[in-house]
Amino acid sequence: MKHFKETLYDSLYQEFRIDKLYFESRTDHQHLMIFHNARLGRVMTLDGIVQTTEADEFIYHEMMSHVPLLAHGQVRHVLIIGGGDGAMLREVLHHPVAQVTQVEIDQAVIEMARQYLPNHSAGAYDDPRLQLIIADGMNFVRDTDDRFDVIICDSTDPIGPGEVLFSEDFYAQAKRCLAPGGILVTQNGVPFLQPDELNTTAQRMGPHFIDSSFYCAPVPTYYGGHMAFGWGTDNRTLRHVELPVLQARFEKSGLQTRYYNPAIHQAAFALPQYMLESLAGRD
Ligand code: SAM
Repeated sequence: MKHFKETLYDSLYQEFRIDKLYFESRTDHQHLMIFHNARLGRVMTLDGIVQTTEADEFIYHEMMSHVPLLAHGQVRHVLIIGGGDGAMLREVLHHPVAQVTQVEIDQAVIEMARQYLPNHSAGAYDDPRLQLIIADGMNFVRDTDDRFDVIICDSTDPIGPGEVLFSEDFYAQAKRCLAPGGILVTQNGVPFLQPDELNTTAQRMGPHFIDSSFYCAPVPTYYGGHMAFGWGTDNRTLRHVELPVLQARFEKSGLQTRYYNPAIHQAAFALPQYMLESLAGRD
């Protein structure tokens, strides 16, 4: 029986048994693998790093979509960068948005995910509100004249094609593409094992937003404890929406969730002491 061994770290590894291999190939941009594991369901990896599993994808996708959209409250236009598996798009489209623009660099990820991870996109790619663009997200935010209420950077880690999405230039251009009061959220790694990503994002994102911070959620297969999500906006109030307001918006939305709820939304912005000390440069 073959095993998948994640080699994101040089002294720590996680290993999954491959019960059925659906796809493995090098695309124009990255090495893509999709397989089945008895405990995790279908798993997708890119360049040897776990991207998503059927078992726990709901945590990550609910928290990266419903937190900014319900905090904002009147989202009409959303930009998703990356997100080739389609689950972020699925969750965003549960909201009454007018349009979602998704900019994914690797067409093969979308094609293979639609075929071998069908529960992730669950028909979202056929929604008429979607404008799908195959391009580098960095080039898109630099060139577009469109403006967005929420930008979700659902990227790989800062390795290979994803690296540019962690640059100061990306944060500056993403800010340029936000409508007034808009919010940028980013996949920002697991601070317990990738502390540099937290500080680097704070240094690079901070100068471009009045309010730049993080929120967290535990995604089991992004192992090492809490995953951090970058948060950038010029509207300070959006990180402190009152619980009754979030509850009313959540109830009105009719969202069916398995991780997100308004109390978790609020609590997610409370950072553990080790992250605060890292950000204060004291660790
Ligand atoms: N949830 C995963 C995580 O946290 O690592 C990310 C999932 S999603 C599969 C990551 C997507 O980012 C992939 O589809 C990859 O092709 C895409 N991507 C990487 N670099 C990109 C870039 N520069 N522009 C647009 N999409 C990019």
